[in-house]
Amino acid sequence: MTESENRRCAVVTGSTRGIGRAVARELAAAGMNVVVNSSSERSLPAAEAVAAEIAEEFGVETLAVAANVAIEEEANALIAAAAEANGRVDVLVNNAGITRDGLAARMSDDDFDAVIDINLKGTFHCCRAAAKLMMKQRWGRIVNMSSVVGVYGNVGQVNYAASKAGVIGLTKSLARELARRNITANAVAPGFIATDMTDALSDAQREAIVSRIGSGRLGEPDDIAHLVRFLASDEASYITGQVICVDGGMSL
Ligand code: NAP
Repeated sequence: MTESENRRCAVVTGSTRGIGRAVARELAAAGMNVVVNSSSERSLPAAEAVAAEIAEEFGVETLAVAANVAIEEEANALIAAAAEANGRVDVLVNNAGITRDGLAARMSDDDFDAVIDINLKGTFHCCRAAAKLMMKQRWGRIVNMSSVVGVYGNVGQVNYAASKAGVIGLTKSLARELARRNITANAVAPGFIATDMTDALSDAQREAIVSRIGSGRLGEPDDIAHLVRFLASDEASYITGQVICVDGGMSL
């Protein structure tokens, strides 16, 4: 068996930028082969750039795959491509996510459905496909990106909060189903992290948020990636079905 075939394989959805990119880098730094994912062919070059950068820096095998996780066939193809290239899928990080904010009274069905389809159903599609392989392997780590908004709610985000609360229920149920096969499933609930997603905040909104954060700053993608790396490791084998907030003390 070659050194590359010996390495664990991690799939990180939505890893062209932001938290997903940081997670992909961190798992590669831990010695895993990494599958980087973009939502479409249009953003595939961004995924390819991340994959190339990681391969060069950490000396692991990488693959860039365009797949919209909201579409069952594309999510299945993403996991199949990872398995085909690596002979296994050991770690799945469901990070792909979007927001379509607006007050509930004025929110369209399209905005509600789009967020549920990607954040919640996309997570389900990838979990289902990867769990089948992990059950045969009798080892796996699933980390699903929720949000403090899924725990506490937020004005203007009924769709997003529902999707992220759904991710928590899904993760706990999956953890119960898979525990006997050495597969853990946990949810990470970031607070406000400096990425494209939070770039849209006005200065006033940003100041109001920071004033509620004990640490006095927005989080960095690496703050999340460090926890994901631990949850994906052998050392985290007795942690499953948990929701871990990483929010600088905002929710205290
Ligand atoms: P981001 O910078 O906006 O990046 C989103 C990533 O998701 C991109 O790689 C994007 O790919 C991908 N994506 C979007 N729709 C997709 C789809 N249908 N299929 C596959 N990939 C898709 O977001 P982020 O701030 O890093 O957030 C990452 C995750 O953390 C999300 O689940 C988000 O809800 C969660 N989160 C973020 C924060 C925060 O403060 N930033 C807080 C709590 C939770 P493309 O480049 O192809 O569009």
